[in-house]
Amino acid sequence: MQHLITTDDLTIKQIEQILDDALRFKLQKKPVSLLKNRLLFTLFFENSTRTRSSFEVAAKRLGANVVHLDPSKSSTNKGESVEDTFLNLCAMLPDGVIIRHSDNHLAKKLSDMNLTPLLNAGSGSYAHPTQALLDLFTLKEHFGSLDGLKIAIVGDIVNSRVASSAIALFGRFGIKISLVAPEPFMPRDTNLPKFDKLEDVLDDVDVVMSLRAQFERHNKPVFENYETYASHYCLTKENIGSRDIIIMHPGPVMRNIDISDEILDDKRSKVLTQVTNGLFVRMAILKLLLLDS
Ligand code: ASP
Repeated sequence: MQHLITTDDLTIKQIEQILDDALRFKLQKKPVSLLKNRLLFTLFFENSTRTRSSFEVAAKRLGANVVHLDPSKSSTNKGESVEDTFLNLCAMLPDGVIIRHSDNHLAKKLSDMNLTPLLNAGSGSYAHPTQALLDLFTLKEHFGSLDGLKIAIVGDIVNSRVASSAIALFGRFGIKISLVAPEPFMPRDTNLPKFDKLEDVLDDVDVVMSLRAQFERHNKPVFENYETYASHYCLTKENIGSRDIIIMHPGPVMRNIDISDEILDDKRSKVLTQVTNGLFVRMAILKLLLLDS
């Protein structure tokens, strides 16, 4: 039984298959009934706009049925543990469970029970494997080849599961990563090149990936004033200029703090392309885990 908790659960061959299948799904556009009569649960203990709907649309485009359990109305509110909720869902014999939770290690713990394929849709600050895979697809689609690409990740890196999954995955494909953040947002335990000024990297990268401040993981306010933060780290027409680079962000974008309105509208912004690609990449991931493994 194959799970997807971190991208390290996948071999390079499986990742290449996901990229190829996703491209095929994107080109053919039409839904395909590969997962007809399959049943998936989505179980999101943290907020989600893109990931949950993307997974649900992906599953439906493959012909699967999806049941969403709303934790705020479930028995976890009556004191049932997440483990017990999960055991009860598995007793209904689903073909997979898609879970998001603030606990870094819960998804792994549940997957170790080996009851159903488990797909991690975001675990605390630890991992967001499907975001990293859709970002990899977006890079490959734009640049053709990944080896030697240079990307700067900017923002609240230390609290971001998107950053940790991107760092883990991109390195396997020869992508060179630099980190740009003020001291409280910069991870300490990394050998990647670190910068505190955006200007110091912009001439030397192909891609800038911006990340929002992960307020839900701050125990106390990190900065009093995000306007001052934005004056250093927001991607704007002034600092991006006419450079031939692309701009990425996993969303939600804090407009004019992470990326200015103008740059979001610029054709170098791939923010909505990432959302579209997420659909096809998640279709490919569901195919791999439920059908091919
Ligand atoms: N949507 C992404 C996540 O779930 C990024 C974010 O929320 O900042 O981690």
